[in-house]
Amino acid sequence: MKVKAQIGMVLNLDKCIGCHTCSVTCKNTWTNRPGTEYMWFNNVETKPGVGYPKRWEDQEKYAGGWKVNKNGKLTLKAGGKAEKVATFSIFYNADMPELDDYYEPWTYDYRNLFGKAQKHQPVARAKSQITGENIDLKWGPNWDDDLAGGEHSIANDPNIAKIESDIKANFETTFMMYLPRLCEHCLNPACVSSCPSGAMYKRDEDGIVLVNQDHCKGWRFCVSSCPYKKVYFNWSTHKAEKCTFCYPRIEEGLPTVCSETCVGRIRYIGVMLYDADRVAEAASEPDEKLLYQRQLEVFLDPYDPAVIEAARAEGISEEMIEGAQNSPVYRMVMEEKIAFPLHPEYRTMPMVWYCPPLSPIMSYFEGKNSLKNPEMIFPGIDEMRIPVDYLASILTAGNVEPVKAALYKLAMIRLYMRAATSGKDFDE
Ligand code: SF4
Ligand code: SF4
Repeated sequence: MKVKAQIGMVLNLDKCIGCHTCSVTCKNTWTNRPGTEYMWFNNVETKPGVGYPKRWEDQEKYAGGWKVNKNGKLTLKAGGKAEKVATFSIFYNADMPELDDYYEPWTYDYRNLFGKAQKHQPVARAKSQITGENIDLKWGPNWDDDLAGGEHSIANDPNIAKIESDIKANFETTFMMYLPRLCEHCLNPACVSSCPSGAMYKRDEDGIVLVNQDHCKGWRFCVSSCPYKKVYFNWSTHKAEKCTFCYPRIEEGLPTVCSETCVGRIRYIGVMLYDADRVAEAASEPDEKLLYQRQLEVFLDPYDPAVIEAARAEGISEEMIEGAQNSPVYRMVMEEKIAFPLHPEYRTMPMVWYCPPLSPIMSYFEGKNSLKNPEMIFPGIDEMRIPVDYLASILTAGNVEPVKAALYKLAMIRLYMRAATSGKDFDE
């Protein structure tokens, strides 16, 4: 057993209101410099939707995707643009987004926005933050904000007029949700594995993945290899940049900026202890649907005296051990099992986890004495507006049962809290 400490995050999607405060405060803190205009270390996507960069979830379609070969190593599926994969964790999926897949950042000439009286205001054209030239706006992060709609999303069909008519015709099947995204600070980071210069590294003390700016050669293997597309290329410095998990704040005992400023209070930060010796085997699990459970197996019980002893022997600080014992991430991921990794089938063992959202089903429970008859809740979960199948497709590689069980628990918690805070029985 090789014990390591890892900092992670759980986001309760039930509470995200899609306000983008997290993205904006992150941007103001980290990416407000030349060369970083288009970068959003944190972004919030409307799902189902195109995402940022465009179609980052569809790389399998475009680049061939990954499979486990007969030796248990990860390799590209036929059709991928890349040549080969040397070790189990090196991904060369060769999917390199271009500026159009992100967007050309723009600003306005604010003097003209509220200038002399015009018939139609504002009159200022958008101009590129990079070239300063006027541009025609074509795309940007969340261009499809709040436009997602079940099978009729812009992700499936770029013809907006058709989507609108489909949605009108099939209104009862439409759904949407918000998905805030940041670097996953993976246990098995593809970006680190693919970096030939050793600039991309995973910190020993807390697992935060960083880029050493002095060593980065700007080759961008990390950009193409990250399946979450969370490494960016700075066109001014010619170096890679990514979310730092606000490590200077973490070192001072402060939360990340996105967590501190989150309007919905949806983010929880905590330490997990894990067995680094088991990561490779777990990530090579041939059955994608078991990857979520296999990731759970690498986490260690922070109260187990043998684990604590092994952690001390590895030089893990008392502060981190105590952090693991009081970790909301451990509680939600391991004890309550109400949080899941994003796309575990990417096999990088991500460390930003999500509680699935309860779409409006509470009316289903009301008047049914649900607290006393919990079996009433399961049919309600099957009738949720956001289909459980869809949630499972992004959180457990399609494994529906754990997601259903989590939704059941979350519904029970909500029922209980409603009853507890209203001072009366829920069904009254
Ligand atoms: Fe690296 Fe991407 Fe994982 Fe972040 S999400 S650690 S950039 S592979
Ligand atoms: Fe969601 Fe919080 Fe970000 Fe608002 S600040 S979009 S509630 S994660």
